[in-house]
Amino acid sequence: ALVIGVLALQGDVREHLIALAAADAVARPVRRPEELAEVDGLIVPGGESTTISKLAVLFGVMEPLRARVQAGMPVYGTCAGMIMLADKILDPRSGQETIGGIDMIVRRNAFGRQNESFEAAVDIAGVEGGPVEGVFIRAPWVESVGARAEVLAEHEGHIVAVRQGNALATSFHPELTGDHRVHALFVDMVRENRDAAGAL
Ligand code: GLN
Repeated sequence: ALVIGVLALQGDVREHLIALAAADAVARPVRRPEELAEVDGLIVPGGESTTISKLAVLFGVMEPLRARVQAGMPVYGTCAGMIMLADKILDPRSGQETIGGIDMIVRRNAFGRQNESFEAAVDIAGVEGGPVEGVFIRAPWVESVGARAEVLAEHEGHIVAVRQGNALATSFHPELTGDHRVHALFVDMVRENRDAAGAL
């Protein structure tokens, strides 16, 4: 079976574990380098990106994360997780680092404060069957992408879903909706990557 980890330092870990199981993956929380080494792919959940960043350094998992993402491990970040996958953040808090992996510049809290959180229908390239319900909670948007990154979705003119190779990121939270199509897309990415590696 495919084993997919959820970075379990802070944030909505449990919802992602449930969504992955619904999309037919074996899902596991990941906190330590030894746990990271055992997964075929990883989700970085929503939460608070500065906290996730600092805990990743504290748990000694930041450098192993960067190494695996650079080596092509499939990775999917939602909201704070999107921020963690950005090569550059516009307005980092002090001590805030990212894993990187997607050639994009992300603006934190771009859609406004907590009480300006909202839901909106979002059409995502590569996700069949109509728009997904996008849940935006103090969400970032992508200010700009480099040549290697592909924009998958926009909301009101702002980029909210991006893919670069095996790295996927959304501003919103599919794990909170009961619609598992985005998780299924990620599980497919992980399966294709593992099958390609096995064929070598
Ligand atoms: N605003 C949070 C941050 O900057 C992200 C919010 C979320 O993940 N729902 O990390």
